[in-house]
Amino acid sequence: MTALLETRGVWQRFGGLVANSDVSISVGRGEIVGLIGPNGAGKSTLFNLIAGVLPPTQGSIWFDGEDVTHMPAAERCQRGVGRTFQVVKSFETMTVIDNVIVGALVRNTVMREARRKAHEVLEFTGLAARAHVLASDLVPAEKRRLEVARALATEPKLLLLDEVLTGLTPTEAQTGVALVRKVRDTGITVLMVEHVMEIVMPLVDRAIVLDLGKVLVEGKPADVVRDPKVISAYLGD
Ligand code: ADP
Ligand code: MG
Repeated sequence: MTALLETRGVWQRFGGLVANSDVSISVGRGEIVGLIGPNGAGKSTLFNLIAGVLPPTQGSIWFDGEDVTHMPAAERCQRGVGRTFQVVKSFETMTVIDNVIVGALVRNTVMREARRKAHEVLEFTGLAARAHVLASDLVPAEKRRLEVARALATEPKLLLLDEVLTGLTPTEAQTGVALVRKVRDTGITVLMVEHVMEIVMPLVDRAIVLDLGKVLVEGKPADVVRDPKVISAYLGD
């Protein structure tokens, strides 16, 4: 069976700066893959290329057997690419449930159906008790969970998580890790960016390390953390 996601020789240049340089990665169905690397390595840029926020300067992106390189973000979301966003300001003035309904409306045009889906997702993510609170009144760890909830409400095949575990207390991070496992157990494939290796390594099936826009190393987490190239990339950070 083909991979769910593949990037083939992807480049992203911003003027003279090369943010992604010939990046070819693949994510298999049902996997949890960690995309790690020092600050500025090009992780978020690659996420934007996969989600369709930007077109790559060169190379192609394949999702679920289809070339999506030039497909707009909204259409990729329809195809099953779900991603987290930082909770943007306008959403902060909305309740938790309304935030999640925005995600659910991607797939359910009937409001009653979207609301039912949103409640189900809030239950799943442990936010049900906070449904009618304003997003701005959530503590930071809950805001991260709300981002995940909104992405889940779009019913993705692939969930892209950008640093959703960063900056949490160890207990909150463990709750987050458990949620990611629970998501995968429902059959959703996960590609997650994290800067801090200690958090992601116990969770992922495979790790891909980016450095200076290139794939430096990829493999099983236990091998990746011991790789001298990875150690020196992080020490130079
Ligand atoms: P990471 O997420 O790994 O920290 P990014 O993908 O955010 O790295 O950034 C990679 C490089 O590309 C950085 O040098 C960053 O400054 C640059 N970059 C990212 N987005 C843009 C942009 N829109 N315009 C110009 N440079 C950018
Ligand atoms: Mg980033």
